Amino acid sequence: MRIMLIRMISIKLALKFAYFMKIRKGDTVLIISGKDRRRKGKVLKAFPKELKILVEGMNLKKKHVRPKREEEKGQIVQIPAPIPVSNVKLVCPKCTKPTRVGYKIVDKKKIRICKKCGKEI
Ligand SMILES: [Zn+2]
Repeated sequence: MRIMLIRMISIKLALKFAYFMKIRKGDTVLIISGKDRRRKGKVLKAFPKELKILVEGMNLKKKHVRPKREEEKGQIVQIPAPIPVSNVKLVCPKCTKPTRVGYKIVDKKKIRICKKCGKEI
């Protein structure tokens, strides 16, 4: 019973964070920690429940690919792995500066705004 309750609360929290995740697919982000620090990249995919994002060309992990046919050779390819959203900063497309994201309600819709230039993102 208690475990059920804890599970329900954590799902609720995850949904809440999902709603508030400030980085979305297609955004340009600046990596602020880890080995790709100070590099910019495009968000390929967002995982709001895990609070992680997949950024083009960042956090590359080596993966072995098995040959599909006998005459083919096995290969090692580099595939981006998800990184925590706290390790990046959004780059504002309007002022091109790394910024924090704010929110504004316009016509009952929540829109994201750049904290540096105040424009809609
Ligand atoms: Zn801006």
